[in-house]
Amino acid sequence: MRESVLRVVAVHPELLGTYGDFGNAIVLVQRALWRDIPAEIVEAKSGEPLVRGGDIYCLGGGEDGPQARSALELRSDGALASAISGGAALFAVCAGFQLIGESFTGPDGKRQQGLAILDMRTRRGPGLRAVGELASFASEDLGVDSMSRILTGFENHAGHSDLGAGVAPLGKVLRGVGNGSQASEEGAISGRVIGTYMHGPALARNPALADLLLSWIVGPLDPIEGEIEEETGSLRESVLFGVGDRRRARRRRSLFSKRPFGLRRRSGVAGE
Ligand code: GLN
Repeated sequence: MRESVLRVVAVHPELLGTYGDFGNAIVLVQRALWRDIPAEIVEAKSGEPLVRGGDIYCLGGGEDGPQARSALELRSDGALASAISGGAALFAVCAGFQLIGESFTGPDGKRQQGLAILDMRTRRGPGLRAVGELASFASEDLGVDSMSRILTGFENHAGHSDLGAGVAPLGKVLRGVGNGSQASEEGAISGRVIGTYMHGPALARNPALADLLLSWIVGPLDPIEGEIEEETGSLRESVLFGVGDRRRARRRRSLFSKRPFGLRRRSGVAGE
């Protein structure tokens, strides 16, 4: 059992809390506690120096104004970038993802500097705001297998993000917009930093990602006793194949008839 308490820092929840991404911190702590790893959430409020000594920092989504304010504060504080270079992990969603890049579009439409933790630039997307379900197929490097490689969430953003040469996408878009790049990329992964456009909260819908973040800090993890993948598996199916229209869902499902990603189906799936 780990001696010290694992500290999960929820950064600026009052600015970056519009989409319920605080849930990611709750999931990380709960999945640690279920394994008898002592863990706690620390809230890092805006207007105060950023909490030092965190193991995993979480940034959530928010509107353009609060996003710009959070970026300004975190840049002048400097502690987040130092924590990451010192070995802490970072999970950043949407506005949080955009602000850890080199630059993003501010509320006035002008380019604003980000924290430069990731080699990535975010611009205003050309078309309508991306709003809806988002599913992607996770990169192999993540080391998660079969069904867990399909990641799902919902997206709601105007910005599109272009990754620099040294940053790998978290996955390839199967449904939705994601980064809005030519190569259908979703999110980013670099060292112990993960960025994504998935709300949900993403770590509740994709527990394999939560365990990946935890394993970077505490090492290999035991499976959680009694945990079943059925619920998140059904959710993945409904995001991929649609709900409500049984014929369309069945037709799309036949494209995946060999279930290449290890999808399982059970009675009672929404839309059946
Ligand atoms: N304000 C950003 C955008 O619209 C991020 C939105 C979000 O966090 N969902 O692109």
